[in-house]
Amino acid sequence: MNINFDTLLQKDSFTKDEIVQLLKASGEQEKALFEKSREVKLKHVGNKVYFRGLIEFSNICKKDCLYCGIRASNKMVNRYDIADDQILKAAKFAHEHKYGSLVLQSGERTDTAFIDRITNLLQEIKKLSDNELGITISMGEQTKETYQKWFVAGAHRYLLRIESSNPELYKKIHPNNENHSHATRLKCLKDLQDIGYQTGTGIMIGLPFQTYEDLANDILFMKEFDIDMVGMGPYIEHNQTPLYEYKDSLMSLKDRFRLSLRMIAILRIIMKDINIASATALQAIDPLGREKALKIGANIIMPNITPTQERANYLLYQNKPCIDEGADDCTNCMEARINMADGEIGYDQWGDSLHYKSRH
Ligand code: SAH
Repeated sequence: MNINFDTLLQKDSFTKDEIVQLLKASGEQEKALFEKSREVKLKHVGNKVYFRGLIEFSNICKKDCLYCGIRASNKMVNRYDIADDQILKAAKFAHEHKYGSLVLQSGERTDTAFIDRITNLLQEIKKLSDNELGITISMGEQTKETYQKWFVAGAHRYLLRIESSNPELYKKIHPNNENHSHATRLKCLKDLQDIGYQTGTGIMIGLPFQTYEDLANDILFMKEFDIDMVGMGPYIEHNQTPLYEYKDSLMSLKDRFRLSLRMIAILRIIMKDINIASATALQAIDPLGREKALKIGANIIMPNITPTQERANYLLYQNKPCIDEGADDCTNCMEARINMADGEIGYDQWGDSLHYKSRH
């Protein structure tokens, strides 16, 4: 039973069916949804947009996710691992350009050499920035001890997308082995939260086999888990991955894009004070995609500051934007873009999740 749309928008918590109704909004209803989410955003987190300089420092990965371009079985990828001094140079760039925070992201590795190297990098980044740079990390599933070690070394936020809250759907988009277990992923998220990280998760939107009910449940999952930050964006098929064979069953890229915006808007109305990142994948579909997301609910953006020569090798999906410009170009471009979205850049600020603060 659908309830009147205007009545629905007056509420600030929704049942699963109501979320499905919102997810299907189009035309004037979609516009009203976006107006509402924008209002909630401005009231609860303001118009500041915080930068997280993104360093995708390695595409070496032991996982084999069926959707991802850098999966271990993809032999067409040139594997790279950026040297520590280059990573530190990028961190210095972020600090000097008042970015406030960094995101270190890579494929997944769990060997001791990798773990120790990250610990050391975190300490070095804290040192070179006089403790001023905030650090988010995103290196997949690790043991609680490793998460703890990295937390002590200086990381205070962690991004680990659940990819889908539905274990059945999760199974369909991952190899069927214990190295790709939904239960482990959930446990990792719990560990991160227990240790005290600002904990971020997210999902892909428009996956093969995914339903509106799945997406509604994803939103309810984030609420239930009491997550501090979210990064979610459209699924974009990659021709060197197994899921590519389902490309004809997908909704159009444009529809995945609009649906992603509606997901962000609904989440903002429900979780008013969390940080929501404007995912890079939005820009792969619409050149102004990230700005559109900032306007209707997102408040975090991750300018890519990976040294340029390696960017073209971190292709999780096709059509990835900004793979041939340098970090300087990125900053100038970002400023213009954020002004366009009526936002203001929170230079030199961490822009921590207000939700995390109120949880503690
Ligand atoms: N290894 C880390 C981070 C790298 S992958 C981890 O597992 O968390 C970062 C995110 O990219 C993934 O969580 C996934 O949601 C997204 N991604 C991967 N392939 C994608 C695709 N084809 N389309 C859209 N997003 C994708």
